Amino acid sequence: MKRILVTGGAGFLGSHLCDSLLEKSTDIVCVDNFFSGSKDNIRHLFSHTHFESIRHDIIHPLFLEVDKIYHLACPASPIHYQLNAIKTVKTNVMGTINMLGLAKRIKARILLASSSEIYGDAKVHPQPEGYWGNVNPIGYRSCYDEGKRVAETLMMDYHRQNKVDIQIARIFNTYGPRMAVNDGRAISNFIVQALSGEPLTVYGDGSQTRSFCYVSDLIQALIALMAVDDFTGPVNLGNPEEIPVLDVAETIIKLTKSSSKIIHKSLPADDPLRRCPDISLAKEKLGWKPRISLEEGLDKTIAYFKEMLHLQ
Ligand code: NAD
Ligand code: UDP
Repeated sequence: MKRILVTGGAGFLGSHLCDSLLEKSTDIVCVDNFFSGSKDNIRHLFSHTHFESIRHDIIHPLFLEVDKIYHLACPASPIHYQLNAIKTVKTNVMGTINMLGLAKRIKARILLASSSEIYGDAKVHPQPEGYWGNVNPIGYRSCYDEGKRVAETLMMDYHRQNKVDIQIARIFNTYGPRMAVNDGRAISNFIVQALSGEPLTVYGDGSQTRSFCYVSDLIQALIALMAVDDFTGPVNLGNPEEIPVLDVAETIIKLTKSSSKIIHKSLPADDPLRRCPDISLAKEKLGWKPRISLEEGLDKTIAYFKEMLHLQ
């Protein structure tokens, strides 16, 4: 039986990945420092024979014997990654060096969860993998954006210099059950606000766009990418259906049948204006495209938050 390490396995995406991998009869080692993740996300797995959880901070070296590494550890929400910006850089740089060192020693394939944020406030639209991006190196988002860019650089350098077997997933905004109630991202904020009868906080005029992918689609893509043998290099993974943030807020009010109103707050610095993945490469190499529509995914996510807020 293959043993797979999932760093950040107690987080939103990591815990869904652990669930899916366990369905495929693999042994899972979840490593997490529980900074933005939670034991609640993996509690249902504690009694599973093939699941093991280790509290560990990846900025310190880790000695394990595994066959594959999904490297997801890093806070993803702007609120969380800006809480301790220096730590975010350390997690992306030192953490990724440690995981690459591990991969090199044990000759395991390693997949990095990179981000659409490496494109910054993109000037090319939609964004193909060949676009180098437009990132502010000294802003509030830089700890994450530049952190992920260095993480990608490290992946490529370990591949070229040390022949480490790598895959890089550039993940675009993903949502679904197990996002933290206090996560601070648009979809979780809007749903929690709508269900609590609070005003929905749209930053700026809400004309900035994002492309939201439902979690199950994304997890399928990560597993497919890990299995690809004839290809190395970053791959965009996300839903190419682009939508203004204001429309997302209105859709959530409609789906929750909420009487909440929309209020506008100031737009955070360096908030990207438009974001949409070109997923031609994922389609070609993985035979993958997202299947779940925004309304369908929102319905499932709303049901989850109702449970979390004890509304059903
Ligand atoms: P998350 O914050 O829910 O999960 C991250 C997990 O990593 C958490 O459980 C956290 O406790 C853990 N972690 C953070 N720093 C750590 C450290 N130093 N040592 C050990 N564990 C640590 O975020 P998520 O949405 O599940 O994102 C997972 C990965 O995917 C991240 O690398 C993120 O950058 C990337 N990503 C996510 C999205 C998205 O929309 N969800 C988009 C692009 C990229
Ligand atoms: N946003 C918003 N209200 C919120 C949270 C976020 O209008 O309560 C906006 C945010 O400014 C950004 C978009 O929604 O333009 C997506 O934000 P999120 O934090 O979900 O992801 P990211 O900015 O990392 O893409």
